[in-house]
Amino acid sequence: MTTALITEREQSLQQPTLRPLPLACRLCGASQPAAPAAICEECLGPLEPVYDPDRPLPDAATIASRPGSLWRYREWLPFEGEPLLSLDSGFTPLVESPALARRLGVGRLWVKNDSVCHPSLSFKDRVVASAINAAHAFGLDTVGCASTGNLANAVAAQAARAGLAAWIFIPHDLEIGKVVGTAVYNPHLVRVRGTYDDVNRLCTQAADRYGWGLVNINLRGYYGEGSKTVAFEICEQLGWRTPTAVVAPMAGGSLVTKLGKGFAEFASAGLLSGAAPRLYGAQADGCSPIVRLVESGGEHVEPVIPNTIARSIAIGNPADGRFAAQAIRGTGGWVAGVSDEDLVAGIRLLAETTGIFTETAGGATVAGALELARTGRFGPEDEVVLCITGNGLKTVEALQGVLPEAPVIAPKIRELEALYGRDL
Ligand SMILES: *Cc1c(COP(=O)(O)O)cnc(C)c1O
Ligand SMILES: [Zn+2]
Repeated sequence: MTTALITEREQSLQQPTLRPLPLACRLCGASQPAAPAAICEECLGPLEPVYDPDRPLPDAATIASRPGSLWRYREWLPFEGEPLLSLDSGFTPLVESPALARRLGVGRLWVKNDSVCHPSLSFKDRVVASAINAAHAFGLDTVGCASTGNLANAVAAQAARAGLAAWIFIPHDLEIGKVVGTAVYNPHLVRVRGTYDDVNRLCTQAADRYGWGLVNINLRGYYGEGSKTVAFEICEQLGWRTPTAVVAPMAGGSLVTKLGKGFAEFASAGLLSGAAPRLYGAQADGCSPIVRLVESGGEHVEPVIPNTIARSIAIGNPADGRFAAQAIRGTGGWVAGVSDEDLVAGIRLLAETTGIFTETAGGATVAGALELARTGRFGPEDEVVLCITGNGLKTVEALQGVLPEAPVIAPKIRELEALYGRDL
């Protein structure tokens, strides 16, 4: 075998091993050894890794000197030792937009541009980078997921590179860009007749039965921690300080929950100036169970059947819904539900003002931010970050029939001038 054909995993077999951290239940606190486990054995609650509070932590200068990936924050990721796989995900641009700041009536505004996250162009590359290292450390040779699209892309890409087998389950009717952007890596790809919530139920059974590492099911405790790195990067890229408000799209509610955790962890490590930012969550009206939970002030998510073009965030029964609602309420933030029409307008506004082409979920972030500004949630003193979590080339059908059709001409100046005349 030539060097070029050695996979990441084969390479890593020559290196020292990585140890995932033990887990504890978020609800009852019961602890469990490090293992692929979906839920607490005592109360069926969700699991989270347990960090040693006395572990040595790096200072800002040390972090800044490390390579530009999410692993520069590895002391806050759920492992001991050196990560081995997917070493170059994360550390995406933070792009300032004075035009959008003016539009929202806020002091300053930045776009956290995960539409160019490596390797599969969404923020899901972060959570998979964390989970795939856990899978490998547990000796699992098969990974997989239940996905609304972007997670499928990220698992398939990162498993291919690592040399791990992948089983990927998606709703049968996803956008072609999401399907092709998974199938190209040649995983076992299964389209399930049903909603994401049906796919998720099937995968929960499959994980136990076949001993797979399904990143958002039985590796979920390790997966979710990858999302914190969005918060870490925002702080570092702003010069080790917090913005006053962050707006993010919500599907299962994990990203918003972990943004709150990430900002809190950096503050308690003494790395930050500024208060915890207010967290704002956006969903499409056609699937907005977390928006409704926050608005109603209730305790439990009421599941819905999704009906929106924002497929990547169409989760009717969000696993982290109540934690997302807690994080939002606890920081003094709020929520916004947006119509499909408004989120398409959000995609266009972002493109026209920042040169960034996002998918439907990012359109929900922009439209949600506009709605929050209109209802007085932001002021001129605010410094706002919009989380743009996925790439527009994956959901081009959202713009079908919306953009003006470009004229077709013969390659003749005469035809150009006939069309545009004096406007040229
Ligand atoms: C998955 C996803 C989200 C939100 O994910 P959570 O389940 O809430 O963590 C947001 N944007 C995009 C593009 C996604 O794929
Ligand atoms: Zn428990």
